[in-house]
Amino acid sequence: MRARLRRSAVLLTGALIPVSLLMGNPAAATSAATSAADPVSGAFARASAAHEVPRDLLVSLAYAETHLDGHDGEPSASGGYGVMHLVASRTLERAATLTKRPVSALRSDPAANIDGGAAVLRALADETGLDAAARKDPARWYQAIARYGGSTAPDVARLYADTVYDLMAEGVRATTPDGESVTVKPRAVEPDRGAYAKAKDLDGPSTLAAATDYPQAAWVAANSANYAVSSRPSSDAIDRIVIHVAQGSYAGTISWFQNPAAKVSSHYVVRSSDGAVTQMVREKDRAFHAGDYNRRSVGIEHEGYVSDATWFTDAMYRSSAALTRNIADRYGIPKDRTHIVGHSQVPGADHTDPGGNWNWTTYMNYVTGGGGATNPHTAESVCGTGYQAIDSAALGSAGTVYLLYNSANGNNCVATIKKTSIGTATATSAYLEVQGKTRVTDSGNFAYYAGPVRAAAAGTCVKWGGKAGSSVYDSPFEHCG
Ligand SMILES: [Zn+2]
Repeated sequence: MRARLRRSAVLLTGALIPVSLLMGNPAAATSAATSAADPVSGAFARASAAHEVPRDLLVSLAYAETHLDGHDGEPSASGGYGVMHLVASRTLERAATLTKRPVSALRSDPAANIDGGAAVLRALADETGLDAAARKDPARWYQAIARYGGSTAPDVARLYADTVYDLMAEGVRATTPDGESVTVKPRAVEPDRGAYAKAKDLDGPSTLAAATDYPQAAWVAANSANYAVSSRPSSDAIDRIVIHVAQGSYAGTISWFQNPAAKVSSHYVVRSSDGAVTQMVREKDRAFHAGDYNRRSVGIEHEGYVSDATWFTDAMYRSSAALTRNIADRYGIPKDRTHIVGHSQVPGADHTDPGGNWNWTTYMNYVTGGGGATNPHTAESVCGTGYQAIDSAALGSAGTVYLLYNSANGNNCVATIKKTSIGTATATSAYLEVQGKTRVTDSGNFAYYAGPVRAAAAGTCVKWGGKAGSSVYDSPFEHCG
């Protein structure tokens, strides 16, 4: 898995930095002039100093949650506000109590929000018993950060905190919506996970459970209140894949689908940074993600926010497209925009995701072409029940033409199955000529295949063949028996 490699690389290559270098320099950064020019950087420095939270951890946590975009005070899908993602009925009210600021300011004023987040982190650190000396060591903040994420599931809390430490190790280069640059220099810290060291590492190999429908996915079960047990595809055919943007972080979305208050879920969640995939609802069951399409679809959530293109990485597009390709192949879903749809396209949907920043052209290119797209149709499925392939010929790399025979009725069938430009209409043909009769040809611009061409040919020789791309095949008269 990419995620596991990523973490290994971080720990192998990152030199441990002396603790003294890891603290912010609050005294130098809190002057009024600095704050005016760099309001967000100034707010991080002030909050770090006021609550004795390591500045780089504070920024890394905010980046993990929101990429430092406060979304103008609009909440995430799980009810979190501002760059620190203060969650209503939980950390938001706690921050108000701790900082004596109104909830409205904590929601929409970035500096207040950052101060509130730091205050909550400090209170959580106090709960885990960090004293003044321990607070200077970023490694010791792990449990406070895990609790800040809000998941009661140890493995998801660990995923949340690991993400923050991974980001700090890789470094952060963020640009705020107002164009301010905020950075964290790459600094590897081996976190002191405490009790979370025993929690399952969802990026580790042990979670490649046979329980998932997609072998590359980790498995974290959604709360049973958030989906309906079913027996698809026998109960309901699966013929749509719905693309979502989560309005939240990866760990935060996973945690939300574990919360019975959510009443929503999706089958899969994909991570922005590296495309890691977690499955949360079996495909046979109906996730609650797309209203009228819940019965017929598989839902994929993507970490990030509709309004912020920085979440939509190439790694995420490629990984998600591979997942979509796999699902489509398993259910015979055509790989086109009629069957692979955005949440906003679902009839009756009041959601806008994935939104205008989602690059459908890139995505569908990866789904249909990039990295070995497979044709959902086979010669047998095209010709129908009772037909078996008895001969075939490659049409270069563009496709294969098949001759099939149905022993029950003595009919032959010819079909050309494309291997490239799958889902795009290109010149393709198939023909069958029974000796002594007129050749029958199916020719045109087809997305997946040409044919079927069927004819009665028991005891008679046939010529057969076809075309895909620039490659042609013509048989002699043969298969005369
Ligand atoms: Zn959606």
